Amino acid sequence: MNHDLSPRPLNPAPQAPQMIWPNGSRSALFIGFDVDAETAWIGNNASNVDRMVTTSHGGYDARVGIAKILELMDELELKATFFTPGWTALAHPAACEKILKSGHEIGHHGYLHKMPDRERLEETFDEIDRGFEALQQALGVRPIGYRAPSGENFPELIAYLAKSGIRYSSSFRDDIMPYRHACADGIPGPVEIPVNFAFDDWNFGMSSRTSPRPLFGRDAVLPLWIDEFEATHAWGGVTTLVLHPQVSGRPMRWHILRDFLRHVQAKGDVWIATGQMIADHFEKVERQAHRPMR
Ligand SMILES: [Zn+2]
Repeated sequence: MNHDLSPRPLNPAPQAPQMIWPNGSRSALFIGFDVDAETAWIGNNASNVDRMVTTSHGGYDARVGIAKILELMDELELKATFFTPGWTALAHPAACEKILKSGHEIGHHGYLHKMPDRERLEETFDEIDRGFEALQQALGVRPIGYRAPSGENFPELIAYLAKSGIRYSSSFRDDIMPYRHACADGIPGPVEIPVNFAFDDWNFGMSSRTSPRPLFGRDAVLPLWIDEFEATHAWGGVTTLVLHPQVSGRPMRWHILRDFLRHVQAKGDVWIATGQMIADHFEKVERQAHRPMR
């Protein structure tokens, strides 16, 4: 592939309507969990399937993490979006069914958590198709939201997602407001609910034998999350969380997350919504903005 390195915006800023959040809220919080389970360890490194201890990081999801996260959501009366790879849903149907039964949204997160690769389009599109099939087979759902495994994307994939019925994506890091991706082949691109890498718990709470990293506890993580949230709130944006049950479902981290969510709830003027609710709202605001003036 020839790489076009000419100077130009690689994701040109679209026209987006002035966002007014529901119920007079000043900002929004989108609680997104990535239920990677073992796929985080085998998707991009198939030989790990024979390393039971390495993959046991992911095994925490079905044994403990998902249930503890659902317990927390119930306690705080919150609804979240769980981006679930197809492989996870097939391997751990009982744990994933509990997510659905608790009234949360299931999103698409690939099949085996393979990072989308522009030089391997067929394999990338196959991940999308197999993800849909597996979620249908295991849980009977067809998701409308997508978060890219390992957080990567490109124009052909955005167009494929739109054609496949994906109405929103939550992977990009280039804004604090939702926006719509450019049209492809006459089909409107998905709405983007951009993420903030400061809210990816993997950065602070996951270390393994093969990629040892420093771990950060409450004193580092909670003030960082609160400060970043408060500033985003003041700017009227959306705070998007990128959480993993195998990280934030761990005992100490579960309490950090609980304290952070209680802080947000105590503000009283934050709209806490699932990805689908935010996409629906964006589309409503978009329709109103496009309504001709009388
Ligand atoms: Zn993931």
